[in-house]
Amino acid sequence: MAVERTLSIIKPDAVEQNNIGNILAMIQGAGLEILGMRMLHLSRAQAEGFYEVHKDRPFFGELVEFMTRGPVVVSALQADDAVVRYRTLMGSTNPAEAADATIRKAYGTDIGENACHGSDSVENGRIEVAYFFPEYVLK
Ligand code: ADP
Ligand code: MG
Repeated sequence: MAVERTLSIIKPDAVEQNNIGNILAMIQGAGLEILGMRMLHLSRAQAEGFYEVHKDRPFFGELVEFMTRGPVVVSALQADDAVVRYRTLMGSTNPAEAADATIRKAYGTDIGENACHGSDSVENGRIEVAYFFPEYVLK
C-alpha cells in the first residue's frame, strides 16, 4: 500500500443540510487524515475549471449552478490508498445505488446532489489537491 492524497469536497447540499460534521466524522472514522481544510463559496470560474473534464456533458451547466449556489468545504486527505478508500466511503455517484454506510447513501439526495466529491485516481488527486492546496501536493 502506498500513502496517497486525495481531494474531498463537501458539496452545497450537504452544507445546507448541516452535514459537515457528520461527513467529517465519517472521513476520520475511515482512517483518512485531514491535512488541510477550508470553507469557501466557489466562483463560477473555479467550478467550471474544477469540472473542466465534464464540460461537454449534458449536466455540466446544472453541475456548475449547483456547486456555486452555496459554500462548500474542501479538504486534502491522506491515507494508505486514500483515493480508493475515500471513493469507497463516498459510494456510487447515484445515492440510490450507494452501499450502506456510505456518505452518499446517508446524505445524498440524487445523482446531481450527492453530498461529496472525491478524486477518482491518484493522478487526478494530485491535480485536484493542487487546485485548492498547492502546499499539500505529495512531493
Ligand atoms: P463522481 O462524482 O462520482 O466522480 P462524475 O465524475 O461522473 O461522478 O460526475 C461528477 C458530478 O457531476 C457528480 O458527482 C454529480 O454531482 C454530477 N452528475 C453526474 N452525473 C449526473 C447526471 N446524470 N445528472 C446530473 N448531475 C450529474
Ligand atoms: Mg468524478
